Amino acid sequence: MDDNMITLTIGKQKNIALIAHDGKKKELIEWCRENADILKMHFLCGTGTTARMITDQTGLPVRGYNSGPLGGDQQIGAKIVEGKVDFVIFFSDPLTAQPHDPDVKALLRIAQVYDIPIANNRASADFMIHSSYMSEEYDHQVINFNKNIKDRSQTL
Ligand code: PGA
Repeated sequence: MDDNMITLTIGKQKNIALIAHDGKKKELIEWCRENADILKMHFLCGTGTTARMITDQTGLPVRGYNSGPLGGDQQIGAKIVEGKVDFVIFFSDPLTAQPHDPDVKALLRIAQVYDIPIANNRASADFMIHSSYMSEEYDHQVINFNKNIKDRSQTL
């Protein structure tokens, strides 16, 4: 196999991050309630306010990071890099400007770099959560970060 890439495995139990902008929180909480039986099989985390509201309103345990505008999206991005978040449901609001827009873009970018499934609206979230991969392991290819550093340090 091409050693520029390595195979990582998303386990049967996913580490799911849940994030909703203010205009979408109600919709995400409703979605979590509808899918609680599936979600409770996995490990849940989220940005601070979203996590708290989901737990308060559905009873699902969701580990909360900082609020999004205070760095919560960046914390979740860092967890993706560390391999500790492997599935993201992010109901962003396409009709409202966000003060932390650069952080939102950074999270989307890092999810793409690490080939992490990420849903940005309800239909995508429905298709993802009802995929047969939800109850199986899933192997995927990501950039071989160690080789990347070795190559760059020898060629730049
Ligand atoms: P919040 O952050 O859950 O703390 O509201 C979400 C966001 O706006 O990114």
